[in-house]
Amino acid sequence: MTRTELASYMGLARLLPRPNIRPLHEAAPATADVISFANQKGGVAKTTTTLNLGVALAEKGHRVLLVDLDPQGNLTMSQGLNPDTIERSMFDVLVHRMPIEQVIEHREVDIAVSSIDLAGADMALSSQIGRERALEKAFAPVKERYDFILIDTPPSLGLLTINAFVASDGVIVPVQTEYLSLRGLVQLENTLSMVRENLNPAVEIIGILPTMYDKRLTHSREAEEILRENFGGLVYNTRIRKTVRFAEAPVRGTSVLAYDPTGEAAELYRDLAKEVLNGKKSRKHA
Ligand code: ADP
Ligand code: MG
Repeated sequence: MTRTELASYMGLARLLPRPNIRPLHEAAPATADVISFANQKGGVAKTTTTLNLGVALAEKGHRVLLVDLDPQGNLTMSQGLNPDTIERSMFDVLVHRMPIEQVIEHREVDIAVSSIDLAGADMALSSQIGRERALEKAFAPVKERYDFILIDTPPSLGLLTINAFVASDGVIVPVQTEYLSLRGLVQLENTLSMVRENLNPAVEIIGILPTMYDKRLTHSREAEEILRENFGGLVYNTRIRKTVRFAEAPVRGTSVLAYDPTGEAAELYRDLAKEVLNGKKSRKHA
């Protein structure tokens, strides 16, 4: 696809560029900011970003809870836990209204774990009243214990992801700069606007994160330019470069910040943490 063709998607009125990275909403001073990491495409670094941004925020002294809402359980695995042997998971929290404390494990940061059961949550929830608010309800008792709750979502825009959007103040969209799917961004924004109209008026995209950036590839550079041309200030200055460290760390059950603390990969997520925190501050002063 040519660059002009790609850019022509941007004629779609739904995805109007916004002037600046949206700061987070703060409902009350002492409650957690809830951020979802979403893109219905798999392999764009949602899980990698949830974990490493979470650990970077924790390094700065913030209290962080990660929530694994993907039945594949990659986030759970990346903290050295086995989703196949986990008995109580976010499935029980969402479907049986089990208190979320009962599925939180303490690792590099706190993590509410997933298991393969979660694949049945969509179906099990679909007949329940309040099915879109199960996650929001689950967070209520722990929101004052954390500064940030970061939700890793599955590669779909189904009921699990909708639950994440309903419970969130903002959404960060990781986008792979090699296979930029602007059509995918339009679908995601359509789902979000449905959630805004019916369930959570405050939620919106607070930032777009270019990932797997390879400066040697023309395609990578062009994809990044197209993102910046069309979404302007919504795109983080930090772009996450492609490096094998990101594949190595989860095998050890750790973040890249623990695996290679002084490496470039770790630094990039620390940079992102600064940008996310600045977005928050700029609203406070607004
Ligand atoms: P998603 O959750 O969107 O499916 P993941 O975070 O699981 O994506 O990433 C997909 C794969 O790409 C994983 O194997 C991960 O280790 C790897 N990966 C993530 N970020 C990078 C990066 N910046 N450079 C190279 N590989 C990466
Ligand atoms: Mg994932």
